Amino acid sequence: MSALDFTQTSTARRVDDDERTRILAEPGFGRYYTDFMVHARWTLEDGWGGAEIVPFGPVQLSPAAAVLHYGQEIFEGLKAFRHADGSVWTFRPERNAERMQRSARRLALPELPAGDFLSSLMAITAADEPWVPEATSEESLYLRPFMFASEEFLGVRASHCVDYYVIASPAGPYFPRGVQPLVVWISDEYARAGAGGTGAAKCGGNYASSLLAKREAAENGADEVMFLDSETHSSIDELSGMNVFAVTADGRLLTPSLTGSILEGVTRESILRLAADRGLEVIEQQLVMSEVLGQIDRGEITEMFAAGTAAVINPIGELRARGGSWTVGDGGSGEVTLALRTELTDIQYGRIPDRHGWLTRL
Ligand code: PMP
Repeated sequence: MSALDFTQTSTARRVDDDERTRILAEPGFGRYYTDFMVHARWTLEDGWGGAEIVPFGPVQLSPAAAVLHYGQEIFEGLKAFRHADGSVWTFRPERNAERMQRSARRLALPELPAGDFLSSLMAITAADEPWVPEATSEESLYLRPFMFASEEFLGVRASHCVDYYVIASPAGPYFPRGVQPLVVWISDEYARAGAGGTGAAKCGGNYASSLLAKREAAENGADEVMFLDSETHSSIDELSGMNVFAVTADGRLLTPSLTGSILEGVTRESILRLAADRGLEVIEQQLVMSEVLGQIDRGEITEMFAAGTAAVINPIGELRARGGSWTVGDGGSGEVTLALRTELTDIQYGRIPDRHGWLTRL
């Protein structure tokens, strides 16, 4: 097992204090980057090594690097939150470390030991500490670990050289409109993942294949796209970057079960726990789209929401498809949705006790 020691090569900041303050006043999502990034390299011969903290900047790659041709790449996403006392924390990073290892196995990439994953997060957060927004905002520093096949080789096989990076980006609301009910387009033509495919892995290819459907959603006035299972096109899988939930009038919380084609969200798992603590009956099962639409029409499903690290919990106000549209509940933000959102963010920002032990200090 390696234990990487991330050493900082330079402490010069790329962005001056005034510019950083201006950026942090309105960071948006995924638009600005910090001063530093973390890097390590794996080779078949030597395993992991070369751990360093370097200035954020372009990555030099051979045009024949395998990732550019065969897409052998995975990533993760999690956030650093500042608490009122100034300390900086992250949420269940061990779950992201494990998921990155599962993604690595599926994409024939090397597994990064969980301890090294965590120390890479600590390394970038320490170097970029001024970039973690103040606790008074509902903002955070989004951390994006990723690794890719960097070997200069055009034969189709698992790369013998892999680069791992962590970059960081200050994050406000994921959706430009903030926490407003989403319009979700039901994709009847395109699937995101098939049986035996890579749906449960967090690999770039899954997102590349979702983009055309996302564009179709936008052309139909929707904020997000909902994918159905690839085999029968009848049951709900997930959105392009979030898991899906439904709340029933009789106090059940429904979400699609993990079939292998859905990403196992850390937010999803946490919500299932918080909902059960609140006395909701939590049900992971196949959710048949036509049945869900019927339940919405009859008022049996009163709320739906999307959940993921970036968007946290976002209400779904309307489902839209070629055949019509369905308003969920009163089309607004449901009570259960908002209560779960408040509880989850209160834990993340240290406003209520972390009774499940989900926070790790960075
Ligand atoms: N599904 C997909 C396809 C995603 O990209 C994400 C975001 N990582 C999620 C679900 C939610 O996962 P998490 O709660 O771990 O962010």
